[in-house]
Amino acid sequence: MIRLTLLQLQNITESYQAENGEIFALDNISFSMEKGEFLSIVGPSGCGKSTLLSIIAGLLRPTSGAVLLDGKEVAGVEPRIGYMLQKDNLLEWRTIWRNVVFGLELRRQLNSETAARAEGLLRSYGLWEFREKYPSQLSGGMRQRAALIRTLATSPEILLLDEAFSALDYQTRLTVTDDVYRILRQEGITTLMVTHDIPESISMGDRVLILTSRPARVREMMEIDFGPDRTPLTCRGDPRFSRYFDHIWKELKDDDSQK
Ligand code: ADP
Ligand code: MG
Repeated sequence: MIRLTLLQLQNITESYQAENGEIFALDNISFSMEKGEFLSIVGPSGCGKSTLLSIIAGLLRPTSGAVLLDGKEVAGVEPRIGYMLQKDNLLEWRTIWRNVVFGLELRRQLNSETAARAEGLLRSYGLWEFREKYPSQLSGGMRQRAALIRTLATSPEILLLDEAFSALDYQTRLTVTDDVYRILRQEGITTLMVTHDIPESISMGDRVLILTSRPARVREMMEIDFGPDRTPLTCRGDPRFSRYFDHIWKELKDDDSQK
């Protein structure tokens, strides 16, 4: 199989100028991702995870280092990269359909072709019948799916998820992550997912990037291998799951005790 590098981070460093001095957030972060890969990112709270995603999205410039997409430096907001946050940010006064095409409208890309794609996504992922409903009429899980479809409607190649499921209750969260995983694999989207939930990082990732406490450095890049038929739900029963869990837990705890 030919493996194509899609995204490359080269020695990313970031520091913020705050009132009481400089906050050093990221320290020399480098890694690459192949097309279609799913990378989970875990690290202590406040270590710099959201900062890292903002830099990849082109919303924030690194103090030094570079982000390359297909070998070209990302400078400014990159339309090939979609971003999804914890809050679904659906607009309550717009129907699900009008929410789903909102990103396209903003980019002046709403036309018969892109509308057909949005319709296809809604149909494939069970929301077509709900297209005239308002967000408040949907369950938390369905809202999250609608937010994902809105992001996918603009055809990003890379998706950034920042604690995107942490507002959901545990049951919903398990179903939604299974759902989202299936959609992203099917659409072949390269994904970087920040989560504070270790089981979630293992259940979805091809690899888990473990970051140190602030300033974040790469503590370990860990391969996750459940074989080709894994789903986020089934792999939780695999004996390898608890070994991965113990390892990540220990890495994060060791980091904590070194402070
Ligand atoms: P995480 O997402 O891992 O919890 P963040 O990337 O949000 O961490 O933040 C990393 C550090 O940078 C924190 O100490 C935070 O307070 C600080 N920080 C984040 N954004 C800013 C900003 N705009 N100005 C100053 N400091 C910031
Ligand atoms: Mg964060």
